[in-house]
Amino acid sequence: MEAKDLIIGCHVAMKAPKYLLNSLQEALSYGANAFMIYTGAPQNTIRKPTKDLFITEFQQTLKTNNISIDNVIVHAPYIINLGNSVKPSTFQLAVDFLRTEIIRCQDIGIKTLVLHPGAAVGALPQVALDQIVKGLDAACLPNQTLKIALETMSGKGSEVGINFEQLQYIINNVKQPNLIGVCWDTCHLSDAGYDLNNNLDEVINEFDHLIGLEKLFVMHINDSKNPLGSRKDRHANLGMGYLGFETLVNIIYHPKLINKIKILETPWINDQSPYLHEIKMIRTKQYNKDILLALGEK
Ligand SMILES: [Zn+2]
Repeated sequence: MEAKDLIIGCHVAMKAPKYLLNSLQEALSYGANAFMIYTGAPQNTIRKPTKDLFITEFQQTLKTNNISIDNVIVHAPYIINLGNSVKPSTFQLAVDFLRTEIIRCQDIGIKTLVLHPGAAVGALPQVALDQIVKGLDAACLPNQTLKIALETMSGKGSEVGINFEQLQYIINNVKQPNLIGVCWDTCHLSDAGYDLNNNLDEVINEFDHLIGLEKLFVMHINDSKNPLGSRKDRHANLGMGYLGFETLVNIIYHPKLINKIKILETPWINDQSPYLHEIKMIRTKQYNKDILLALGEK
């Protein structure tokens, strides 16, 4: 498989003055042909009206640069928790926010929204899974076109969605299963105990068997600061964690995964973006640790 087939990008900011247009420009500056944004701060639910986001200019500039809007992903804020069965107001906030986020994404023309499934916060995991099903049914619209990709979680705290069985349960039980798929996060998968270093084919086959590879809408590509099964969720730069560059390249270029949209969420180094370098390393399959380390020197 060829580097030219890759759909690779990273998380970028969306901020004043030109919002979506600025996000696209940042992604282009890294050589990306895909990217992911939050529609506002990830830790709150305050959002600007979509009419102020430069949607027309954004869509035109995507066209000029031959980038499909399918490759632009939105990540829902991580504070909303559809799994909360303990505090009704928190659950309702999550449902209400998710519905407005779905409408916002559709206004922009976005096709895929990544969502952390939720956390049980004191309840049993199964109760949280049923609550997530209920929440998705309440938030999704009757004529919705936007797909929701449930992210594979690391298992920190009381998170659910930490294995393929749990994600399968959610997808099989919602009223509109056609709208729901999965976002792999390589760091989270490893932290949750999926051995991508030694058993990549088995992990892919297990996912295909339980959920179906056509349901894998997007992938977050991150190394992990912690070993297999650590349930920590600490992203590392490529080749600077327990997965390693070779494993990440094997995942990215795997024949069954080559056409998937891939997004880096690796940390910035000393306030400098690593993405230009990491994307180049992925495209060339040539690792250059020095160039990343140099970002750490002032
Ligand atoms: Zn995420």
